[in-house]
Amino acid sequence: MIRDTAAAKRIKQLYKGECQLCGLQLVGPDGKPYSEGAHIRPLGKPHHGPDVEPNILCLCPNCHVRLDIGAITVAEDWSVIAHAGLSGVRLLPKLTVKDSHRVHQEYLRYHRRSWEQKATGEAP
Ligand SMILES: [Zn+2]
Repeated sequence: MIRDTAAAKRIKQLYKGECQLCGLQLVGPDGKPYSEGAHIRPLGKPHHGPDVEPNILCLCPNCHVRLDIGAITVAEDWSVIAHAGLSGVRLLPKLTVKDSHRVHQEYLRYHRRSWEQKATGEAP
């Protein structure tokens, strides 16, 4: 498990652990919400996404994985798009974005394109 960076911690606090893709808030017996800071454009090679708030979403563990495997992308108008069979999963129609969190379209576009290219078999 990856330790959260300061930027990821701030985003998780801002949303109080509520998933921006499905609205789920997981709460432990101590009353503390559990969520994960997900980078839209992944960190490290070959993506080199930055560890900054516009590139981070507060997600539940399931949605974090869905984002990472390209089962979910987010459209230009913030619509949540499911690409794989997500039967029984309730996603929000649009990504929840708070006023003080400037999610950057550039990263969502990068995420969409990298998965579209994989789907069509083109080189990334
Ligand atoms: Zn979720």
